[in-house]
Amino acid sequence: MMWTETPESRDNQSGISLTTTDTNEETSISSIVWFRNNLRLCDNLPLRDSARRGPLLPVFINEDLSGTEPEGARRWWRARSLGRLDKSLSRLGAPLAFFRGDPAVILPDLAMQLKADRIVAMDAVDPEDRRIQARLAEALANRPVEIHRFPADYLIPPADLPAGRTSPWKVFTPFWRAAQSRLPPPYPLPTPDRLDGIPFQCTESPDDWGWEPKRPDWAAEMRAFWTPGEEGALNLLKDFLENRLENYAVGRDVPDGKTSSFLSPHLANGEISPRTVWWAIENSGAVGADREKFLSELGWREFSAHLLWHHPDLSTEPLRKDLPEMPWREDGSSLLAWQKGQTGIPLVDAGMRQLRRLGFLPNRVRMVAASFLVKNLLVDWRKGREWFSDNLVDHDPASNAASWQWIAGYGADASPWFRIFNPVLQGEKFDPDGRYVKAFVPELAGLSPRYVHRPWTAPSTLPEKAGIGEQSPYRNPVVDLGLSRKRALDAWSSLRG
Ligand SMILES: Cc1cc2nc3c(=O)[nH]c(=O)nc-3n(C[C@H](O)[C@H](O)[C@H](O)COP(=O)(O)OP(=O)(O)OC[C@H]3O[C@@H](n4cnc5c(N)ncnc54)[C@H](O)[C@@H]3O)c2cc1C
Repeated sequence: MMWTETPESRDNQSGISLTTTDTNEETSISSIVWFRNNLRLCDNLPLRDSARRGPLLPVFINEDLSGTEPEGARRWWRARSLGRLDKSLSRLGAPLAFFRGDPAVILPDLAMQLKADRIVAMDAVDPEDRRIQARLAEALANRPVEIHRFPADYLIPPADLPAGRTSPWKVFTPFWRAAQSRLPPPYPLPTPDRLDGIPFQCTESPDDWGWEPKRPDWAAEMRAFWTPGEEGALNLLKDFLENRLENYAVGRDVPDGKTSSFLSPHLANGEISPRTVWWAIENSGAVGADREKFLSELGWREFSAHLLWHHPDLSTEPLRKDLPEMPWREDGSSLLAWQKGQTGIPLVDAGMRQLRRLGFLPNRVRMVAASFLVKNLLVDWRKGREWFSDNLVDHDPASNAASWQWIAGYGADASPWFRIFNPVLQGEKFDPDGRYVKAFVPELAGLSPRYVHRPWTAPSTLPEKAGIGEQSPYRNPVVDLGLSRKRALDAWSSLRG
């Protein structure tokens, strides 16, 4: 049998129909396995469970009908990851079927046509995904198809906490203490040996979805730097354990080179499960500060999901309802300078240019760049959150929203408003030679460490300064750091009366 679009199929809401090559053949499968943010074979509960029940169809649905949703960088990543997942599933006997449209329409139609017993997926955490899953459940209400959802991809599924408490946690430390008391997580499940797939042909392919940029091709460096997919994730984890876990607690703050795990895009796309990462650390025999620090970073991922689960409007509404809104400035040109990495503040610009080139920037630089936008430029944190969501290959709605709220002082356990990162001091502390800054801001290549993070202070007679023209933002940054800091603190004081 094979998938084709037929004239009759247009009667279906989904516009697809199953035609068999042998018309007498009765089509019937056990499970439709709906892949979303779990693009892997290993430790994949829906896949593993379905594999032992009989014939199955693995499915991925492109839900972005307009093609205009943010997450451009993550879509690029996903296109690559899906290609690899399809190959891996094909090797086991069940290629991935691609569709485009509304899952709440496509999946029920598909289930009826295939006479599938069940649709299996992972629980969603993001509110939009939860809405889609709720609509799907409604659409299946009167049909003989069961929808089975497995716990979301966390060490402790957000729905399971807080157990025995009346309200969700607002502070990380007690949250993580309580979470740790429920660890270790179950051991990761192995990849199924084989899958009983059904032969089919579908009319959709990720190659036609425009997720790979062409003109302009902004993903060229990302292609060279990253290896999306499960194999890339496992190799990166091995490399991290062998070369970077030792000294992680200190090294993670150094932006030059690979000092942290760089696993975030793989985790955000579900190419590796947090349980696999957790057990790899456990089995590595690592002890002490490096181990604890790394596991607590995984804890922040859990905490962010906890916040989003209990506060579905986390992306737009401040968690701290008691704090008044800042008098945000509508300053399009400063926002643009920040987005393009042209503010004249070296560490901020390096981070923002790295973001455009690699879809990533290290945690320390994320904090500095975000603080600069929100506090020195007094631009609404939601604008920063949105820009990150479009440009990060590791975009995760929970971690992104929670982190921006934290920086802006509105979040749970937030950094207070008066904590304003000084990008010059941060640069001099964590990038003392200026190697990171120079890698992304080549205009500063000639400056010595003394001036590389504060080029506007270099004497104009200095030959090193030759490459920085009069009009360069590195002579006149978009804001004076001292004055803009004072403006932010004054705004805060006036709001508090
Ligand atoms: C403004 C801002 C926005 C952010 N947006 C995102 C985002 O969209 N997606 C995302 O995954 N992380 C986000 N982070 C958190 C953090 O910066 C990245 O997870 C980290 O830099 C990824 O690099 P890594 O994989 O090498 O991390 P490692 O240091 O190796 O940490 C291991 C894993 O722990 C998790 N983690 C680490 N730090 C944090 C944190 N502070 N909060 C939540 N999880 C964490 C990640 O899954 C990471 O892969 C954001 C931070 C800030 C300040």
